[in-house]
Amino acid sequence: MGGRDGLKYAADKIVLAPGMRFDLLPGQTDPARMPHAWSAGVQTEQLAKQLAAMRAGGTVLLTIPKTPYRCPPGPYERACLVADWLKAKKPRSKLIVLDANPDIVVEKDNFSQAFFGLHANVIEYHRNVEISSVDEQQMMLYTNGGAVHGDVINLIPPQRAGKLIEQTGLATATNGRFAPVDVLSYASLSAPKIHVIGDSSATTQPKAGHIANQEAKVCADALVRYFGGLAPDPAPVTNSACFSTITRTQASWLNVVFQYDPVTKTMQAVPASASASLGWSGDNFDDMNEWFKALMADSFA
Ligand SMILES: Cc1cc2nc3c(=O)[nH]c(=O)nc-3n(C[C@H](O)[C@H](O)[C@H](O)COP(=O)(O)OP(=O)(O)OC[C@H]3O[C@@H](n4cnc5c(N)ncnc54)[C@H](O)[C@@H]3O)c2cc1C
Repeated sequence: MGGRDGLKYAADKIVLAPGMRFDLLPGQTDPARMPHAWSAGVQTEQLAKQLAAMRAGGTVLLTIPKTPYRCPPGPYERACLVADWLKAKKPRSKLIVLDANPDIVVEKDNFSQAFFGLHANVIEYHRNVEISSVDEQQMMLYTNGGAVHGDVINLIPPQRAGKLIEQTGLATATNGRFAPVDVLSYASLSAPKIHVIGDSSATTQPKAGHIANQEAKVCADALVRYFGGLAPDPAPVTNSACFSTITRTQASWLNVVFQYDPVTKTMQAVPASASASLGWSGDNFDDMNEWFKALMADSFA
């Protein structure tokens, strides 16, 4: 394989985790105009600046792509956070959420209570909305339900695996968007010497940092066994923990355990394991910070 330094490296096994990238929508030429803010850094700063510069009584649009995308609860959490901020900083403003999915895709009870209860005076939620094109000058989105104008547009586009996955011909699942893998080892189904973990892989688990951490562990364990002449663990178990900010000081949570199903050869949620908080609280918010610190320390130790 040729690196950016022009050198080639030989390996018995290669593990790739290049994350995801975004599809541009027709009419999109300047990513800063309608920021996705779905990767931290320049884009999140752009969205924050645009919101801060917006007049009180303005309209913010937030779009949610069809699944699979990075962090299933993320856009709903973003909507709650923006709504809470608008109430305090930009009175009389509205947040219109345009969801390409038929319904809230995860943690429906909590997000429904937040959208139609706590934040009902700010959030207007629309299902099954497909964006066909955008007009960056006029700040318009053209959808299957008509044209919509926003003073600020947080456009979270459809997503696909990192470029490396496509370049190496590994993106053969989900209409050529993500890499199918054997979830016992995360070996690519097209090139078994290459393993793909994290958001780039196509599995039944959510595209989440907590899951990426778990996939890395299953993959590392399988590689240790492989180099010892052994088969992978035939019954891996992973878990996903997720906190969602509902206000700037309160959060909800959701936990799911996944277990390998030898019939479908997929990771399946263990029904009894799926649990979510009843509503949201400041204690959950504190726990979220602890969880985040622990996940980062474990992932990057
Ligand atoms: C708003 C938001 C909220 C979220 N909240 C949560 C949450 O509460 N809980 C949770 O578990 N997850 C959450 N996530 C999801 C989480 O951030 C991702 O699922 C996770 O970062 C995926 O990890 P990854 O390693 O696959 O990809 P990334 O973290 O994107 O890492 C991939 C890395 O590969 C690099 N790369 C790509 N191509 C190349 C190349 N050719 N050569 C070298 N390097 C390359 C990239 O620059 C990047 O640094 C959230 C995401 C968002 C956007």
